[in-house]
Amino acid sequence: MHQAFFHAVPVIMILVGIAIFVFAVFMMFSPALRGRMLARQIKSVRYATDIAKDDIRKTGENMAGAAIDTIGNILDEKGDRLQDIASQTLGRQTQAILDNSDKLEELTDLTSSAVAKTVAKAASAFKGKSAGDVYCKYCGTPIDGDSVFCKKCGKKQ
Ligand SMILES: [Zn+2]
Repeated sequence: MHQAFFHAVPVIMILVGIAIFVFAVFMMFSPALRGRMLARQIKSVRYATDIAKDDIRKTGENMAGAAIDTIGNILDEKGDRLQDIASQTLGRQTQAILDNSDKLEELTDLTSSAVAKTVAKAASAFKGKSAGDVYCKYCGTPIDGDSVFCKKCGKKQ
């Protein structure tokens, strides 16, 4: 029994050697076998990629969750302060608008008075023309058609 086993060892080794040799030769010359091996490798790479993708997604989700938690905590702790700052800023902006509203009003007044003056000037010029070009008999100043005295020299018309 023992002796038979020891005799078998070299035979098994030779058979394994032949098997490896045959496999190597098949690998060199058989595109089908090479393709099958390559397909298996691609499959395992794809499997590994899927696992990695899951890991990356989980990591990303964890990181995003942590970030959201952190922001949430900051808001919990500093929310009132942030609100204060926001309302202060808003208050300052409102105040600035209110401060400037006086200037804005002044500007509006100036503009409207300037417009009013221009309109009045234009109106009086138009009126002077449409009055039928009446002039003072003595000094030649344009006067209203119905005026009795000249507004410049005061003489009766
Ligand atoms: Zn006159």
